[in-house]
Amino acid sequence: MSNALTVTKNVTVGESYDVIVVGGGPSGSAAAIAAGRAGSKVLLIEQENCLGGMWTSGLLSPLFDAHNKTGIMKELVEDLTAKNAWGGFWQISYIQEYMKHFLEEKALSAGVTLLYETKYAGVKAENGKVEGVYVRNVEGETYYKGAVVIDATGDAHLAADAGAQWVMGDENGNCQSMTLMFLVGGIPEKYKDGFVMYQVLEAAYAKQGLGKHSPFKMPYLIPIPNSDYATVQLTHMDGGVALDAKKRTMAIVEGRRQMIDVFEALKGFDEDFKDLSLIASAAQLGVRESRRVIGEYYITEDDLLNGTQFPDGVCTATFNVDIHVPNSTEQHNQDVKPYQIPYRAMLPKGLHNVLVAGRCISGSHIAMASYRVTGNCCAMGEAAGKAAAYAVQNNVSVRQVPNRIVVPIV
Ligand SMILES: Cc1cc2nc3c(=O)[nH]c(=O)nc-3n(C[C@H](O)[C@H](O)[C@H](O)COP(=O)(O)OP(=O)(O)OC[C@H]3O[C@@H](n4cnc5c(N)ncnc54)[C@H](O)[C@@H]3O)c2cc1C
Repeated sequence: MSNALTVTKNVTVGESYDVIVVGGGPSGSAAAIAAGRAGSKVLLIEQENCLGGMWTSGLLSPLFDAHNKTGIMKELVEDLTAKNAWGGFWQISYIQEYMKHFLEEKALSAGVTLLYETKYAGVKAENGKVEGVYVRNVEGETYYKGAVVIDATGDAHLAADAGAQWVMGDENGNCQSMTLMFLVGGIPEKYKDGFVMYQVLEAAYAKQGLGKHSPFKMPYLIPIPNSDYATVQLTHMDGGVALDAKKRTMAIVEGRRQMIDVFEALKGFDEDFKDLSLIASAAQLGVRESRRVIGEYYITEDDLLNGTQFPDGVCTATFNVDIHVPNSTEQHNQDVKPYQIPYRAMLPKGLHNVLVAGRCISGSHIAMASYRVTGNCCAMGEAAGKAAAYAVQNNVSVRQVPNRIVVPIV
């Protein structure tokens, strides 16, 4: 960074860990749980006050590509089902508070040390080897040493800081639109199963006569199972600003503005929506796309079209390419042939003890638009956690982990 400033500050040195996972979303939670279960001493760093990332803080639903997963993903579906917290929209939606609870229970019973409200703040790395990470929280700044670190931040913050190469966006650098999800209650009886809101919304805007239009052509109302509320996927902001703090802040402000617009338009539209209530916007902005690390394997569109299988395939992805077209109200979908995600796509080139998991793994703009859904992120995280634990226990590089450790037993 050309404007970098060297400062001296007090940093506390914390404990050392076998595995440090940064980011507790679908991939990071699964990584920490898997590494802990495999016997590693694990630290999981999360900036929010819960696990789950987009699953919870981001208020998303439904959960795609869970159906063909074993391991932690399958356990979660079973746990949620047992509490009537799974089902609803397309039979793959869930109650977010139960998701938080089950992730916490699994992490703690695997012996994982959780650090909430803690922001990853930097890395100590030399010649491609990470020695530890700096975090900032209520205690100030602390440094934790880790034998293997897993970057599950979605944005590949740690891998980039450690020197990984990365790319972002399509061939012109444009990224998929961002969305601030939000919850509404008092859903009209006839929409209790969920629906694409576009036509109703356009009619509501037309009635207002203010010249407003829906920011997205496929806005979904997604009812949460066994509840009287729904999550809404509708707002659309420029996705290219994910790594720009001020613009990202204004994207959140704009998302909330769009949410208020929609709510007021629907509420005043007709009798159906008279009980509609606005519950909350998500704690976390929904970023579909930012950095993608360049790894030992780069997943391409051809892999999706050909259904490529790999000896180190950690899971099978079936979800279609789903692109919220940059700077547009459109969505582009394209079918894929079930294909695998190779472990090598989680190994950043040039880094020796770092794994990435989740949406920031190595693949193209188009490929990522398919494998980014959360059933796959959870499976990638589980594989990363197992691999990290194996590498530490056998004193080998994450590159030397045998395929049998990361390949799922179906
Ligand atoms: C609006 C939207 C709707 C989507 N809809 C669906 C859907 O319906 N179904 C589906 O399956 N997928 C959906 N996706 C895709 C999916 O949500 C993501 O691709 C997936 O959550 C990525 O998982 P992840 O673990 O890589 O990252 P995330 O879920 O983003 O988790 C990353 C975690 O890292 C934490 N973190 C980041 N930086 C730091 C830091 N510096 N310090 C500490 N913690 C940090 C974050 O707080 C977060 O908890 C959607 C995505 C978006 C944005």
